[in-house]
Amino acid sequence: MSTENPHINLLIPLYNEEIVFDSLVERLDSLMKRSPIAISAILVDDGSSDHTSKKMKELAEKDARFTSVILSRNFGHQYALSAGMSYVDATEAVLILDGDLQDPPELLDDMYKLFKEGYDVVYAVRQKRKEGLLKKMAYKYFYRLLDKMSYIKIPLDSGDFSLVSRRVIDQLNLMREESRFLRGMRSWVGFNQIGINYERNEREQGDSKYTWGKLLKLALNGIFNFSELPIRFITGLGLLTISVSMIYFFSTLIRRFVFNVVPEGFTALLFVFILFGGVQLVSIGIIGEYIIRIFFQVKKRPLFIVKSVIKSKSELSLLE
Ligand code: UDP
Ligand code: MG
Repeated sequence: MSTENPHINLLIPLYNEEIVFDSLVERLDSLMKRSPIAISAILVDDGSSDHTSKKMKELAEKDARFTSVILSRNFGHQYALSAGMSYVDATEAVLILDGDLQDPPELLDDMYKLFKEGYDVVYAVRQKRKEGLLKKMAYKYFYRLLDKMSYIKIPLDSGDFSLVSRRVIDQLNLMREESRFLRGMRSWVGFNQIGINYERNEREQGDSKYTWGKLLKLALNGIFNFSELPIRFITGLGLLTISVSMIYFFSTLIRRFVFNVVPEGFTALLFVFILFGGVQLVSIGIIGEYIIRIFFQVKKRPLFIVKSVIKSKSELSLLE
């Protein structure tokens, strides 16, 4: 298949995926061979410490359908995808998928049909997840919470696995926001978007590279980038406590001067003190979540650093 004018790019971030790498390439190769659409792949190595980048280099050197982008360190999944997006040369669209074969690349056929019907974003919606119960629950409730909170509609149970038109990719490349929640940014761009159901497989080999810490960071980015409700919540809580304290104040006055009841209750006082100490710290923490995002944004650091790009036999070494 000619890669002179590729119509579709596959964009795949890889972090320590040497075990699954060969079966991934096999699946991509058969998809490329049998597909009537011209396909080439952009693989991004997100600072792997195993042999992933070595395998990626070897592949890109001998096979012109593959471009390998090596990052200078582990920046995280969202940044690896962002890095890959800046190397997109597809004329039509980009299929974004995970490297562990949890997202079946073959879904491209059905997604492409919808794309051709005029949808700029065809996102895959997980019908079933074959993952640990705790992770499944965390995902489920997070998406429902985000749906209630966010100021744009972010589809439930859809991750980054999607076919995205070139013009949407161009827009995402223009959005230089530091704290990145791509599935939200993708919704924000607009145009016609549609979901397609699929069953998420188990990871083919190896372990999840999304630690609970990374997952929490992603979830917080979703909420604090797409909702102002946490701040509004603080204001609401403040107004509520002022109202309650006023009612309490006047009722105490009435009890003291009308019914001659002397106020007592040292324990209650201490409890309220500690409670509001906590409420205030949490409130500061919530404001802090926004400030920390402003802090990193104003630095205007690059979102990722590319160490090298290997394309066919020509290595464009950027920093070495
Ligand atoms: N990944 C990455 N950088 C990271 C963590 C993960 O590029 O810091 C890649 C990983 O190699 C995989 C995809 O992102 O291709 C999804 O990660 P994983 O399968 O570990 O996440 P899960 O499916 O368990 O949520
Ligand atoms: Mg996975």
